[in-house]
Amino acid sequence: MVINLRGLLIGRMQPVHKGHLQVIKGILKEVNEVIIGIGSAQLSHTLKDPFTAGERVMMLTKALNENGIHASRYYIIPIQDVACNSIWVAHVKMLTPPFEHIYSGNPLVQRLFLEAGYKVTEPPLFNREFYSGTEVRRRILGEENWESLVPDSVIDVITEVQGVSRIKHLSKKETSELILQNFQGDFNECQNLKK
Ligand code: ATP
Ligand code: MG
Repeated sequence: MVINLRGLLIGRMQPVHKGHLQVIKGILKEVNEVIIGIGSAQLSHTLKDPFTAGERVMMLTKALNENGIHASRYYIIPIQDVACNSIWVAHVKMLTPPFEHIYSGNPLVQRLFLEAGYKVTEPPLFNREFYSGTEVRRRILGEENWESLVPDSVIDVITEVQGVSRIKHLSKKETSELILQNFQGDFNECQNLKK
């Protein structure tokens, strides 16, 4: 019988970036198969979580293929949040293939899996000042070069789902809020003139 060692990595992947790819490659040097849990799977269309779980599955599948990682070496599983931290490990276990080892930089995730008896490793961070989801989203909004931070296939997916215009649209204020803001400005100006 062949014993497959499996490791689990969980991230929101909003979006997938080159740091994620590096850490997945590192994990695959230690275990035969990696389970990639797409966290907060229920979230999308917000500035912090702009992409749907399905879009993130596409990004990962295409980026792993682009990097020559064969589909027999990974499982991609969307994982919704649960309200209670104390039952989260059981929730993850219910959705994933069996695994022995969890890789995470998140202290809460580390703690919950340690308490459940798993082997927990904090993987090294690669160029974290650039390779972070927060930085990619900031650059998209600021019309700076975000493309160099993500694999080419992720650029294609973001283009296909019109992710740049989605993020910019979500950052706008409602017209009613803008009118109120202008009215407030005019009102303050009047008050100052009266003084
Ligand atoms: P955000 O800024 O939106 O939180 P993120 O870059 O932290 O995005 P996540 O999806 O939250 O991405 O990351 C999940 C996991 O991926 C982290 O706990 C960490 O283990 C790993 N990771 C993220 N960025 C890097 C990186 N630059 N190098 C290595 N691992 C990384
Ligand atoms: Mg993070």
